[in-house]
Amino acid sequence: MDSAGTRPGDRTNPARATKSADAGTRPGLTIQLANPRGFCAGVERAIQIVERALEKYGRPVYVRHEIVHNRFVVEGLEARGAIFVEELEDVPDGFPVVFSAHGVPKSVPAEAERRDLFYLDATCPLVSKVHREAERHFKNGKQIILVGHAGHPEVVGTIGQLPEGAVLLVQSVEDVATVEVADTSNIAYVTQTTLSVDDTAEIVDALCKRFALIDGPKKEDICYATTNRQEAVKAIARNCDAMLVVGAPNSSNSLRLVEVAQRNGCARARLVQRASEIDWDWLGKAERLGITAGASAPETLVNEVIEAVRERFDVTIEEISGINENVTFKLPRVLANA
Ligand code: SF4
Repeated sequence: MDSAGTRPGDRTNPARATKSADAGTRPGLTIQLANPRGFCAGVERAIQIVERALEKYGRPVYVRHEIVHNRFVVEGLEARGAIFVEELEDVPDGFPVVFSAHGVPKSVPAEAERRDLFYLDATCPLVSKVHREAERHFKNGKQIILVGHAGHPEVVGTIGQLPEGAVLLVQSVEDVATVEVADTSNIAYVTQTTLSVDDTAEIVDALCKRFALIDGPKKEDICYATTNRQEAVKAIARNCDAMLVVGAPNSSNSLRLVEVAQRNGCARARLVQRASEIDWDWLGKAERLGITAGASAPETLVNEVIEAVRERFDVTIEEISGINENVTFKLPRVLANA
């Protein structure tokens, strides 16, 4: 599933080019739209789980943590009857609860069962795959090194699949030099799914150099959506004077897109949650603006940003052809026919 997608055309050629109908005295600006961008299959599935749960069980449905890291999505679901809480203890007895796409420590479903709560797990199947990998290594007696960002819910969830102390976290090449393992011949690594592909390659390289016998996935566990969105940004970054990444400040994959743009030829790259956050002074006299969106940002927000740009510039849009994603994930059986 990680390699899903085909390359239908030359990604350096615009697949679609459109121009503002009312070209007037406004300055000209070409928008390069990264492709793919925005929602991934795991996010689509997680949102659908909350929507279907609301249809099937009525309001309210509780959701532990933001279902995906996007306020617009969360507020839309709140308006339909979802109640977002941070911990299970905030869910009253007798109401359904959904676990977010980032995954949860094993203690969370265990506690839900103890309380006889009905729960739906919206953990992305690609995150669950990492959980199973870590469990397999642990069963084989290995100590596990997790490459990821401390405190991110996915990292908390992955560490929480195994007993305390079984998983060691490394966040950087520097951490690799100092991490202390019990037996260097009996270790394995897994990674967070939403990391920078390039940074992670360096960290994995450092792990393999320090621990020659380390076991792990072929490359890393970064998911197809994260990889494809970073590739798409790399394809346009050098051609752009500035880049806007539509996404939330707590969205790991969105933050990585800003870094990827900055490191690949577009130093002026920024995250915006909505059009109202665009700093027009910062954009200044840019002539070529890249726009992309993190995996938890809906296309509605990309369109909102484009419309705001159109109000100030005579816009030409070039949508770059890129990897055609065709990944879908099944819903939990209990909701499949809801
Ligand atoms: S970004 Fe990747 S791991 Fe996260 S929900 Fe999307 S597909 Fe799943």
